[in-house]
This record gives sequence, structure tokens and C-alpha cells, in this order.
Amino acid sequence: MTTPEETQTLPLMSPQEPSSPPSSRLGVTLETHILEGMMGKPYASGAFTSLLNQLAFAAKQVSSKVRRAGLGNALGYTGVTNVQGELVQKLDEEANSTILRVLGRRHHCAAAATEEEEEVRVLSSHPSSKYLVVFDPLDGSSNIDVNISIGTIFGILHRFPDGERHDRPPTEADFLRPGRDLLAAGYVIYGSSTMLVLASGEGVHGFTYDPVIGDFFLSHENIRVPERGDSYSVNESNADLWEPAVRDWVASLKRPKPDGKRGRTLRWVGTLVADAHRTLLRGGIFAYPADSSNPTGRLRLLYEANPFAFIFEAAGGAASTGQGRVVDVVPERLHQRIPLALGSKLDVADYETFLRKA
Ligand code: ZN
Repeated sequence: MTTPEETQTLPLMSPQEPSSPPSSRLGVTLETHILEGMMGKPYASGAFTSLLNQLAFAAKQVSSKVRRAGLGNALGYTGVTNVQGELVQKLDEEANSTILRVLGRRHHCAAAATEEEEEVRVLSSHPSSKYLVVFDPLDGSSNIDVNISIGTIFGILHRFPDGERHDRPPTEADFLRPGRDLLAAGYVIYGSSTMLVLASGEGVHGFTYDPVIGDFFLSHENIRVPERGDSYSVNESNADLWEPAVRDWVASLKRPKPDGKRGRTLRWVGTLVADAHRTLLRGGIFAYPADSSNPTGRLRLLYEANPFAFIFEAAGGAASTGQGRVVDVVPERLHQRIPLALGSKLDVADYETFLRKA
């Protein structure tokens, strides 16, 4: 099949415009982008590109299931037995098993840690399986019933960080590494369109899924988080549970500007992927601080906070626990929670100023 980038002709460089930017790569497929972007990288083995393509393939499958979810409910599919005689699974469990199944087909991924499973899932202990994958199969799945954007979050770690290969099956301890060790991270948002955003060493790029062609195409090249944004995103119903420093910070955002113009705008979806995606593109800040009912924070460090922290830093933004960089935190447990703020560099710096005073 002919894909758009094969028929695309490069724009001719005009001699009158010596300073015109390098020709855009908009419209290339994710697969082409991964293959070309990985050339010359130390970790850019065929296995790594193949693993990224597997994750993209899994995302297509989950997207297709998400797109049919409403239909399933309308037609009463849920809870019934399918043609294979299996009970139709809940969508988040289905997304989880889909991603694990795809990862298990080739032997690049030795083990996965997923939000849906208590223990690490070992897929291959062969020494040639060089990667570990962390993922949240369907973030915000409680929003499915009301047709709000949901998403998949993932990160890739090297299985042998010290270079020594062995055939010992991976354990939880292999996953307890700080976010700065990630080789790549990304997320898929199932919104008005399905989009995959990937940070794999050279900037952050967004790919929009064309369901007719069945592929992801580069639509958001080199995403950069604005230095400051107009909105803040926080669950204000927790205000009475916050420590005073968090309340002071939110009050400072709402305060009208000296010229009488209103303060910042609140934007809160309640799906991490949706709130983080908007913050990545528009700037501002998303925060889920600790509170008295979640004293160590609410979001999960390994497969929620770390992938997003990696992405935001790669896009020129910031990610903080309130006390320091998220990617520096060394995890102690697989499903550990952490206070998280993501966003524009200056907005996250202000947040830290308030929280450090506490
Ligand atoms: Zn989640």
C-alpha cells in the first residue's frame, strides 16, 4: 500500500530564503519516524525500534476496542459470552491483556509492570530480551461510561543497565529505577482522535491515528511546552484535605492580575492523560499533590508519573514532586504513589516555591 510519505515530494529550497526552517517531516508514519530517528543512537538496535513499533501496534488495537466501547454498551455486549465462549472482559483488563499479548510475541521485552497486575509479568528471560516495559493500559477507565478521553501510558527501561547480560528472570527489583533511566516514554490518548505522543531521545513528537489507513502519522512535530501557561489543573474538591501551602498556591493562581484581568483558568478532566496532554500542548500546570487522604500522593510513580516526567522534561517543561525532580526519585515498590506536578517550567518552579516553604 502506498503511504503518504512515499508520494510526498520535498519542498524546493528557495534561494531567496536562506533562513527558512528545515523541511518539515509532518505526515511521515510513526514507523518511518522511529526507523529514521533511531539511526546512529547507541541503544538504537533493531530490537528497540521493533519494540516501539509493537507498542504502537498494541495502541491501534486498544484504540479500536475503545472506539467500539460505546457500541458494545449500547448493544448490551458487556457481561455476555463471546463466540470463543469467553466472558467479555472489562475494557481496562482487555487493554492490559492486549498489550501483554503483543509484547510477548517477539522477545524484545523481558518483563512488564502494569497497573492492572500486582506482580511483574515475565515474558522472556532469554539474554537477548533487553528491555523492560512499564505501562498503565487504560488510564481514566472510569471515564469510559461518560465518553471522556482516556489513555495508555508507557515507558521503556533497559533490562541490563550495567551491560552484563544474563538469563535470570526479571523481578520487581529490576523495575525499581528512577525515571531518568527511561530510554523512551509515551502515551496514547483516545480523544476526539487517537494520538500517540512519543519521547524517545530526540524531542517529543505527536502522531495522529488515521483509522481509514490504519496508521499513525506525524502531526505534532517537536512539541515544546510553553514557558508559562494560562491554566492550572488540580482536583479542587480536595482543597480541605490539602496542606496550607497547596491552598496558598491555588489562591495565588486565582487572584486577579493588577490590571483587573482575571487570574488563571481551572481545567480539570480527571484523567491524567487528558489533563497532561492539554498541559503539554498549551502550557500551565497539572498537579496532584499529597493530601490527608493520600499522604504520599495519588498517582503511581512507575507507570504514570515517570513516563510523563520524562516526556515533559524532553519537551522543555518540568515535572516535580513539589520538593524536587520526579525522575530523580528511586522507587521502593512497584505500585508506589507519588505527589506529581507537570507543566511549564516557570509554573512548576512557582509551585515548588510554595511547597518548599511548607
Ligand atoms: Zn492511570
